[in-house]
Amino acid sequence: DMYGDRQNSLGRDYSQAADRDAHARALEGVDREKLTSGPIIGGKLRAGIDAQAVANPFDRSQVLGHVSEAETTDIDAAVEAAANAQVQWDRQGGAKRAVVLRAMADALEADLDRLVALLSREAGKTLNDGVAEVREAADFCRYYAVLAERDFTAPETLKGPTGETNQLFLHGRGVFACISPWNFPLAIFTGQIAAALAAGNAVLAKPAEQTPLIAAEAVRLYQKAGLNPDLLALVPGRGETVGVALVTHPGIDGVAFTGGTDTAAAINRSIAARPAAIIPFIAETGGLNGMFIDTTALKEQVIDDVIQSAFGSAGQRCSALRVLYVPKDSADALIEGLKGALAVQTVGDPADPKTDIGPVIDPESRRALETHVERLSKEAKIIARAGLPLRAEKGDLFAPTIAEIPTPDFLEREVFGPILHIYRYNSADLKTVAGKLAARGYGLTLGVHSRIEAFATEVIDLVPAGNVYVNRSITGAVVGVQPFGGEGLSGTGPKAGGPNSLIRYAAEKAISVNI
Ligand code: NAP
Repeated sequence: DMYGDRQNSLGRDYSQAADRDAHARALEGVDREKLTSGPIIGGKLRAGIDAQAVANPFDRSQVLGHVSEAETTDIDAAVEAAANAQVQWDRQGGAKRAVVLRAMADALEADLDRLVALLSREAGKTLNDGVAEVREAADFCRYYAVLAERDFTAPETLKGPTGETNQLFLHGRGVFACISPWNFPLAIFTGQIAAALAAGNAVLAKPAEQTPLIAAEAVRLYQKAGLNPDLLALVPGRGETVGVALVTHPGIDGVAFTGGTDTAAAINRSIAARPAAIIPFIAETGGLNGMFIDTTALKEQVIDDVIQSAFGSAGQRCSALRVLYVPKDSADALIEGLKGALAVQTVGDPADPKTDIGPVIDPESRRALETHVERLSKEAKIIARAGLPLRAEKGDLFAPTIAEIPTPDFLEREVFGPILHIYRYNSADLKTVAGKLAARGYGLTLGVHSRIEAFATEVIDLVPAGNVYVNRSITGAVVGVQPFGGEGLSGTGPKAGGPNSLIRYAAEKAISVNI
């Protein structure tokens, strides 16, 4: 098999004292150090401008470190260094690049406890989410290493007239800008870079404002793995300043973006305004994800999978469940079950192994969610809210919420947090109800729970989605197993962690020789 002996990364077990102790030590380390992030160019941290404190979303009084923003001169210097280094990196072929990517995966795993501690302090990740994220970052590196070897080592020979050889080569495009969100500040940040590097590009990477510290760690680990520091620059800062400067820079040959649908549209407009507007734009964006249940679904399994899909990672996954469609006949029993399951979720400090649901990312996000709950209490019906611990006000804990909505198209857009909307449908109206969800134009994840195959097939036909999950949770796509990404307003593709991931990062060259 082409993937050889590639294996996905292994985790931790926090029911074991040794794993808990390692976590406690790592947390102490992160709390003691004052971390710094800023422009890192050619492996050197530069001063940048406008230094800001980075705080813990669970306890805003805890300052973890500082970040400064990249200036225009930093970006110019980074682009120049990257463009120079890229030529050799591209020429040496995929097999040599794979060595560096595998070393990066090893470096991530060697630092797992520290990275998990930082993910919980900076991004509010629970320990299990943090471990999953480090593993996913390592998996991206190893998976793209395989693709680099497969597609970038030797050309494909194509049949043609006799007396001619025809070969197709893939090679890097030049310098990529990689722009990432805060909700997977390590896995997506590392994965975009790994894909661009695997295909023979150099990278300028902009992390989200909220999570620059873990990004700086990842850049240092790439260097530790042996990457020429000129090939990867960190350019932190705001989207409106650094983000715009990157995508409009004449030296940038492609943009890989993961984040909101509106931001992707804004970036598309910025790119279109460049004098040389023809560069690839890879965008992985938001979703309005539904799950359809019929009367044959297994109630206990549905409850587990819905709680996991809607409230895991505090609902801050692009794949998270937003609207659950329940047939009228089974709705009351299912809603009772969901209320019970939500009541036993522990909301609190994400760094505590007992916590199921941590904070949302920042005060702005918490306030937007509270505003949405006000709308739900007026125009819909709040069914349940989970309890918050004492002293929740020191950070951005938000009470996970279940609400029943009166119409199937109550939600116009993605609501990014732990709020589950339930709609009771008449089985006879399935087509209309599903059609209204489809009409919103998103196409990220979709769930079905049923023991009737024809029901699943019908729902899959009616609702566009890049990732469909039948009789299971709809989150947690695994690299190399469930290639991830959406259609329509949810993304351009190619999917991350799949056999076609690298194609848009690369240029194709066909060489025909008359012999
Ligand atoms: P976001 O607000 O769109 O930000 C994403 C990144 O874009 C950040 O680094 C942001 O910078 C930057 N940015 C903002 N405006 C920009 C501009 N005009 N030009 C260039 N860059 C700009 O998204 P987010 O709140 O961080 O992340 C949550 C969203 O990501 C959700 O919609 C979620 O569904 C989506 N998401 C999608 C996937 C997927 O694979 N489909 C995966 C994860 C998340 P600053 O934040 O620093 O301003």
